[in-house]
Amino acid sequence: KNERILVSACLAGFNCRYDGKNCLNEKILKLVMEGMAIPVCPEQLGGLKTPRNPAEVCINDGKTRVFDIAGNDVTEEFNKGARETLKLAMLYGVKKAVLKSKSPSCGSGEIYSGKFDGELIDGDGITARLLKYNGIEVIREDDL
Ligand code: SF4
Repeated sequence: KNERILVSACLAGFNCRYDGKNCLNEKILKLVMEGMAIPVCPEQLGGLKTPRNPAEVCINDGKTRVFDIAGNDVTEEFNKGARETLKLAMLYGVKKAVLKSKSPSCGSGEIYSGKFDGELIDGDGITARLLKYNGIEVIREDDL
């Protein structure tokens, strides 16, 4: 039986990215239109506006925080977005999520370094991490 999955809203064509654009993936949009996928943007659910400054996850002394490029600490918003996304996943009994690669929220397996230098490091975005921790399988959109 096919179960509904969660997908990053930007992949379904929503203009929720930090720069006010989307990253439309036709396969994802089709799943949403068929009622098989639920689009969600953790950063918007966390209360951040669109457009917004780009942000990166910074791990320092084992502590994970999120800063935008202007140096503002947006950890609380990112954490809230992750919790709200998990709530949605639980509500719908979702077991799988297809999320946007490299994002500080949605990225899985690799994210930007936290130094805004374009380098990638091993790690998960804040939402991807919380979903995985709660037993939800996270698939990168470029692995689809
Ligand atoms: Fe897309 Fe996720 Fe970033 Fe929202 S938080 S714009 S869904 S990658």
